[in-house]
Amino acid sequence: MRKFTDSKLLIASHNNGKVREIGELLKPFGLEVVSASDLNIEEPEETEVTFEGNALLKATYCAKQSNLPSLADDSGLVVPALNGAPGVYSARWAGPERDFTKAMKRVEDEMKEKKDRSAYFICCLALAWPNGHSEIFKGRWDGHLVFPPRGQYGFGYDPIFVPKGYNMTAAEMVPEKKHALSHRAHAFKQLVENCFG
Ligand code: IMP
Repeated sequence: MRKFTDSKLLIASHNNGKVREIGELLKPFGLEVVSASDLNIEEPEETEVTFEGNALLKATYCAKQSNLPSLADDSGLVVPALNGAPGVYSARWAGPERDFTKAMKRVEDEMKEKKDRSAYFICCLALAWPNGHSEIFKGRWDGHLVFPPRGQYGFGYDPIFVPKGYNMTAAEMVPEKKHALSHRAHAFKQLVENCFG
C-alpha cells in the first residue's frame, strides 16, 4: 500500500456535489486540493461496467494529464429489485442536463410493481499517481427507497434514500451527519487509514 506524501491532490471529477464532499472529507489533512474543472481537464468517457473500473479509468487519466496524484470517485445507487440499476449508470439516468428529479421519477416508475424496496449506495475511490501506481477502496451504505423525494441537502438520489436505522432521507440529514455515515465516508476511512495514516 503506497502512502500519500505529496502536498497537492487533484480530484478527478466535474461533479460539484462530489468535489465539495471530497474536499470536506480531506480538510483535516491540509492538502492543496484542485478539481479537474479547475485545470480544464475533460472527464474521460466511463466505458467500464464496474465502479472499480470507472474509478480507476478516471483517476489514471487525470494523473497522466495533470502530472498530479489524482483521486477519482465512481459511485451510484444500486437497487436489487431493478437488477442492480441504475448502478454504474446512476449519473446517466439524469440525462445530459443532470436532472435528478427525472432520474428519481424513473426509479419510482420502475419500482411500481416491486415489493423489495431495498437499495444501497456504492462508492469506489481510486487514487492514482502519474507513474501509473494506484490504490482502490470501496464503501457501501445500505437502506431503502421512499417516494416522493424529501429533503434539501446532499445531491443525486439522496432525497429518495433512507439509510438503515433512520427514518429521514439522506437529503434530510445535515451534511456532517451524511459525511459520517455514507458509502463515501466508508471508502474514505479505508483510504485515509491505508494511504494517509
Ligand atoms: P459517477 O460516479 O460520476 O458516474 O456518478 C455517480 C452518480 O451516482 C451521481 O451523479 C449520483 O447520481 C449518484 N450518487 C453517488 N453518490 C451519491 C450520494 O452520496 N448521494 C446521492 N447520489 C449519489
